[in-house]
Amino acid sequence: MSDNNKCPLCNRELAEPMVRHHLIPPSKGGKDTPTVVMHKICQAKVHAVFTETELKNYYHTVDRIREHEDIIKFIKWVSKKELEFFDTTIKKK
Ligand SMILES: [Zn+2]
Repeated sequence: MSDNNKCPLCNRELAEPMVRHHLIPPSKGGKDTPTVVMHKICQAKVHAVFTETELKNYYHTVDRIREHEDIIKFIKWVSKKELEFFDTTIKKK
C-alpha cells in the first residue's frame, strides 16, 4: 500500500512537484492509457533521455525505463537530492 506514495522511477517518497506520466505519450495515441505519478524531475529526465517515439515503441514500462544507463545514473544522482528538488535545466528531447 505504501508503494502508492513512492515514485516508480527513483523509488523515493513522492513530493511536490509531481506529475502524472503517460506510459505511452498522449501525442502518440496514449491519451487513455495507464499513467503513473512521479516526481516532476523524474518525468523531465524521462523526456530528456527518450523521444516520444522511443517511449511509445519500447520504453512504455517503468521497468524498461529504469534499465537505461542514463536513467540508472540519474536515479543515483537524484537520490541525494531533496524530494522537492527540480532542475529547470533538464531539456526535453
Ligand atoms: Zn522520482
